[in-house]
Amino acid sequence: MNFIPIYKVGLVGNEKRYVEDCLESTWISSQGKYIELFEDAFAKFCGTKYAIAVSNGTVAIHLALVCLGVGKNDEVIIPDLTFVATANAVTYVQAKPIPVDCELNTWNIDPKRIEEKITTKTKAIIVVHLYGYPCNMGEISKIAKKYGIPIVEDAAEAHGAKYLETRVGSIGEVGCFSFYGNKVITTGEGGMIVTNNSVIAEKARFLKDHAMSKERRYFHPEIGFNYRMTNIQAAIGLAQLEKVEEILDKKRIVATKYFDLLKANTFIDYQHSERWATNIYWMVSILLNNNSRIKRDELAREMYEKNIDSRPFFVPIHELPAFEQENRKFPVAVRLSLNGINLPSYPSITDGEISYICQTISELCQK
Ligand SMILES: *Cc1c(COP(=O)(O)O)cnc(C)c1O
Repeated sequence: MNFIPIYKVGLVGNEKRYVEDCLESTWISSQGKYIELFEDAFAKFCGTKYAIAVSNGTVAIHLALVCLGVGKNDEVIIPDLTFVATANAVTYVQAKPIPVDCELNTWNIDPKRIEEKITTKTKAIIVVHLYGYPCNMGEISKIAKKYGIPIVEDAAEAHGAKYLETRVGSIGEVGCFSFYGNKVITTGEGGMIVTNNSVIAEKARFLKDHAMSKERRYFHPEIGFNYRMTNIQAAIGLAQLEKVEEILDKKRIVATKYFDLLKANTFIDYQHSERWATNIYWMVSILLNNNSRIKRDELAREMYEKNIDSRPFFVPIHELPAFEQENRKFPVAVRLSLNGINLPSYPSITDGEISYICQTISELCQK
């Protein structure tokens, strides 16, 4: 079996044609028709009024927090189990990330643990739809409303995932997406802010382009950023977005095949399928339990020997030196982090590759 990577970028639509159009027209920087086309199409995809293209997913979160007025000495609630960018973005506005443990059913931030972390300093809640599985937005929205705290959705891994009938990113005050190479759709590097709030949309647009006054050129009433996306990136993004429903269908089929082949095994646990959740399986993720003969890291090593790439789950934020907490009670995040593994999940993976991976895992984990 040839090496099976964790992800493969598929550029099978109009990507080349649109990029060539950029090159021929010489509109290769951050002005050009593809930016607006991509933004409009992405807003439609999410069901929001506004979408603002930015340079990556991390700056999307940073900008969202700036637009919400989060700043020095404020606190922002985040899940303990997430990619570091969620926590880093909070520090960029000089606020403090406050991690909350996850729940075992969904692997996402535990709504029951949020309230105990809310203080007078809490200025935002960032939820993360981990590996494509939506958070329990009903419960979280109730808490946010009760305390008047805005929700930022870090939907970097969850393009198209739904809570009930609503696509993630459109439920909180602001939604943030990433188009990094291994995300559901990609622009190479890139990100998007979505919102229904016209004030936030306008502010994000203003700040991402050096905060230049509309009335007076080179007058900058505050400190802005260069967080622009290029026309070339947007051209790739538009072509990717034209195929997104196909990509999501394929990813669901891939996940179903994995689970069908693995379900007889007693050494694996999965995220529960809550009735309100439409998981898009950014990564097909499994959790080893006590019935497994070997531990996660050993499994990953052995799989690699057999030409199968994988990724361990993230290290909990509270274990990272920059974010160490006095109170280290995050039992669920720790358990997930130690036992979780993501499997090759690209839409073009073949049935033969999935069978080989499942068979290999079964042989390695069976007692
Ligand atoms: C990928 C990712 C980001 C950051 O996106 P970049 O485009 O790489 O900056 C943020 N949060 C989560 C949960 C991610 O997976």
